[in-house]
Amino acid sequence: MVPDIFHRDFTPTPYWWEAYTPTAGELVDVPREVRVAIVGGGYAGLSTALELAKHGIDAVVVEAKELGFGASTRNGGAVSGGVNVGKSFSGRSIEVDGDRVERVLSDASDAFALIDRLIDEEKIACFWEKPGRFVGAWAKNHFEVQSHRLAMLNAAAQSGAFMVPRERQREEIASDYYFGGMVVERSGKLHPALYYKGLLDACRRRDVTVCAKAAVTRIVRSGSAWRLETNRGTVLAGDVVIATYGYTGSLTPALKRRVVPIASHIIATEELPPDLARSLIPTGRTLSDTKRVLCYYRMSPDGMRMVFGGRARFTQVDATVSAPILYRYMIDRFPQLRGVKVTHAWTGNVAFTLDSLPHMGCRDGMHYCLGCNGSGVAMMTYLGCQTARKIARVANYACSFDTEEFPDHPLYSGNPWFLPVIGGYYRLRDSLDRLLA
Ligand SMILES: Cc1cc2nc3c(=O)[nH]c(=O)nc-3n(C[C@H](O)[C@H](O)[C@H](O)COP(=O)(O)OP(=O)(O)OC[C@H]3O[C@@H](n4cnc5c(N)ncnc54)[C@H](O)[C@@H]3O)c2cc1C
Repeated sequence: MVPDIFHRDFTPTPYWWEAYTPTAGELVDVPREVRVAIVGGGYAGLSTALELAKHGIDAVVVEAKELGFGASTRNGGAVSGGVNVGKSFSGRSIEVDGDRVERVLSDASDAFALIDRLIDEEKIACFWEKPGRFVGAWAKNHFEVQSHRLAMLNAAAQSGAFMVPRERQREEIASDYYFGGMVVERSGKLHPALYYKGLLDACRRRDVTVCAKAAVTRIVRSGSAWRLETNRGTVLAGDVVIATYGYTGSLTPALKRRVVPIASHIIATEELPPDLARSLIPTGRTLSDTKRVLCYYRMSPDGMRMVFGGRARFTQVDATVSAPILYRYMIDRFPQLRGVKVTHAWTGNVAFTLDSLPHMGCRDGMHYCLGCNGSGVAMMTYLGCQTARKIARVANYACSFDTEEFPDHPLYSGNPWFLPVIGGYYRLRDSLDRLLA
């Protein structure tokens, strides 16, 4: 039986869509010819187009659904500058070679600087704040592991990170759930759908053509150009950028084999009594934890609701399945929220890569920026911008995520049938970690 957690006004759509609902608007025709065609109209696609426009290069963004249909209006709005780079879907941070790890973290730090600058320059009203993040240690020994990463994060990504022992945890969160944790000061939060709308407006101000409901069905070489067939006409382009993230399909089979789409789920509560709302996360930071199957949460921009996310399941499931699981995770951390009602529950796809690193590059002559393993608000904006700078030939250094290597696996063809099994296994490992550590 589905527990009685749903508000009478419950809707299975993102809370963020109350402020901006993905829409096709007045359908703009697909142009016949353009210098650059970008497939996918999320942060990555729009940021590519915006940067190209700044260099006087005309681009079209072709989006299969409404504008903002993908992860870009569904996410938690937590913005990081390095702490999550290299985190695999096992929740573990991968080991990157000594030299490269510094470049990777430094680029991730640049991604944070870029989004900060972009929001300011384009005057995007999206509740952008930089209160920092608290990452709770799920098991006793996770606190030690976090302490070991501290110096690296501070040196390479200027994270301003420090440890918070369990005795002082209540300064961060009204809960004793974790074994202390790490604060990453150089982190922020925003309203993801309003940030999306701001990028869209910025593109339109620069006359970028953005076509909704124009699914690209085929891309073929045509002399030195590309012909993109969409369900609303064909466009010839000098360059193509694939920015389809966790929605990458059979249009680009080689890329489909290189990203694993994993569902992430979020609930938002009804407005809480003001004193209770203020008390939950006194610093206003965003929170996540060191679990393999991690949770991430924050207060809504008006400070009145809890917005709580996690991998309730690794696949897309109905809100009647995901919401009760997330609700239980929320009550584990905040028993004082028992009884509050859920007004919104939603889901979206995250693109994981097989080496756990974000990727941009060129394959079969087409550019791509794909995959960020869960933390993509800043990163996908950045990869789009870097891709544009490469096409415009104004990049003055090679981004560390732009490598020839983009691993696939002989047993993975793009159908992640194994995810429920993996999800169950990691949940078990999480329980054992907490029990045995
Ligand atoms: C529930 C959830 C929570 C998250 N929380 C956070 C967070 O707190 N912080 C953070 O940093 N990141 C978070 N992320 C990740 C972040 O949202 C993404 O990394 C980012 O939005 C990806 O942007 P994108 O432009 O690459 O992809 P998307 O926004 O997913 O856009 C890709 C688009 O490509 C389109 N497309 C696919 N195929 C075609 C085709 N053939 N033709 C035309 N269009 C096509 C799709 O319709 C889609 O709209 C979260 C993601 C989810 C799902």
